[in-house]
Amino acid sequence: MTIEEKVRDVEAVFDALDQEIAAFQAASSLHCKFGCGKCCFKPDIEATILEFLPFAFHLYQTNQIESWYDKLSSNQSPVCVILNPDQSGAGLCSEYKYRGLICRLFGYSARTNKYGKKELITCQIIKTEQSENYIAAEQRVSDGGEVPVMSNYYMQLRNIDPELSTRFLPINQAMKGAFEQVLSYFAYR
Ligand code: SF4
Repeated sequence: MTIEEKVRDVEAVFDALDQEIAAFQAASSLHCKFGCGKCCFKPDIEATILEFLPFAFHLYQTNQIESWYDKLSSNQSPVCVILNPDQSGAGLCSEYKYRGLICRLFGYSARTNKYGKKELITCQIIKTEQSENYIAAEQRVSDGGEVPVMSNYYMQLRNIDPELSTRFLPINQAMKGAFEQVLSYFAYR
């Protein structure tokens, strides 16, 4: 599979997920607090290399990959390097279009528990500041209502490239790994 084909397939998974999330948000009225980005400050976010391949490919195509690689190599903080705490607007992600799978899923998806029941995963701010809508959504999900299921989307990435989508790394390392995939791919072409 070429790297272009992998990127295209990952982006197709992201597009389908974004549509499913939009439908869930419309049904539940749950939404991120304007300008929040609190979840992005977590120092222990994990991701796979594959979910950042579209970002790496975009940076390669726009001649930015070297500067971003240097930025990652000199970075000491475990907090995501894409996060821009000074950004104005709805959120603090400076590359929102290219954010990872975990970034899309968090807040608007469910995991399946050992009894096979779906459990809504969302942030404390939504739980407390939108408690009525959250309780209603949680019940609907528990009763089998429509919601993106995390494992389904990780499985779809695994079908694209098992090697690049099985190992969970600290988010900046996952990004760096994606950059190295793209750089070595084109180094030999
Ligand atoms: S990629 Fe964007 S959404 Fe994901 S953790 Fe980083 S700043 Fe947050």
